[in-house]
Amino acid sequence: MGLIVQKFGGTSVADSEKIKNVAKAVIKEKLNGNKIVAVVSAMGHTTDNLIKLSKEITHRPQDREMDMLMSTGEIVSMSLLAMAINELGFKAISLTGQQAGIRTENSHLKARILNIDPKRIKKHLNDDYIVIVAGFQGYCDDNEITTLGRGGSDTTAVALAGALKADRCDIYSDVEGVYTTDPRIVKTAQKLEVISYEEMLELARVGANVLHPRSVETAKLYQIPMRVRSSFKLEDLGTLIIGVEEMEFSRPVTGLASDSSQLRIVICDVKDRPGNAGKIFDILANKNISVDMIIQSYARNQKNTNDIAFTISTEDFSKFEEIKEELINAISASDIFIDEDIVKVSIVGAGMIDRPGIAAKMFNILAQKEINIKMISTSEIKISCLIEKKHAQTAVNALAEAFELDGSTIADVKGDLPSL
Ligand code: ASP
Ligand code: MG
Repeated sequence: MGLIVQKFGGTSVADSEKIKNVAKAVIKEKLNGNKIVAVVSAMGHTTDNLIKLSKEITHRPQDREMDMLMSTGEIVSMSLLAMAINELGFKAISLTGQQAGIRTENSHLKARILNIDPKRIKKHLNDDYIVIVAGFQGYCDDNEITTLGRGGSDTTAVALAGALKADRCDIYSDVEGVYTTDPRIVKTAQKLEVISYEEMLELARVGANVLHPRSVETAKLYQIPMRVRSSFKLEDLGTLIIGVEEMEFSRPVTGLASDSSQLRIVICDVKDRPGNAGKIFDILANKNISVDMIIQSYARNQKNTNDIAFTISTEDFSKFEEIKEELINAISASDIFIDEDIVKVSIVGAGMIDRPGIAAKMFNILAQKEINIKMISTSEIKISCLIEKKHAQTAVNALAEAFELDGSTIADVKGDLPSL
């Protein structure tokens, strides 16, 4: 008998009919002889609506109260799903993050999971219950409720799978799997049968919205195989995410994504001396602002100063404005320049390791379309370029074609796929 953690996203539990449908998906796996833990997101756009409600009251809500508010969304869907399963004659019990033993760090809105005490879940599983857990929430010191950041239910599911040593973690949503690129932009984007944790992690970070990046990190850490699949097509197995060792790459690039939710900040004329970069990023870190791309220019001018440019999420912009003056003063910069007209286009592929010329090809494709690159960053298996928003669609289409992400693709797998 296996243990499977399933996660159902907001669209899969958007109304009572859909919740009944999810109950069937849960029972189907149970009837295959598995123990089941099902993690749920809030119904439909509930979380967005709760945030909207808070904004009608105040523009500066306390982080703690936002967590109290947002955690209610998942509590609604977990109890309804438990009822739906009970109604079909199976035993189910719902648990909040805290009841499920999900302990996080002492921070609100984007708390990381520190550990999970699965005692209570195990007890219910042994009593033959299907256990439903509220996604996206946990608790910290003083029994305070915390949330894990938008989209955090994926992370709840994978972390539970790790703590329970589950055989697999299935992420159900309205998409049928992981695609080479966004099918809304490139009509012929292909569904991947399999992708490595490493590639999925990079893709998730650069804006492929299928999975929360931290969930992939956790799956990789515990080596939990994941499937991304549709709750509306239960017979379809979706995309399997596994370790890179099991794969062989026939193409350098596996996926392509664009992200328009960032803005670029340039701090001008930072004195070229030790400590200044540290000061800048300390101030940002203290404000809990995550930074993505970072570039420091070469100090060639007579003033012996650099420009330091980086990108942050548009969500953090109001927090950034609060520390802007502090930043300028801390390092006596001459000015701060903010560029909102950016989109980040990235190509990802473990197959680009040891294959020269991939970056050149990407830059040349953009040049052929007369698209100027504002900033570049790379990792071992990723290249990202910032370009103007108006070019996003053209860039994605051209790159998808050039890197063969819109034809019959797919990363090859050595031998047979593990049967899961
Ligand atoms: N309900 C939360 C959100 O919308 C968490 C999740 O869906 O994963 O961000
Ligand atoms: Mg969601």
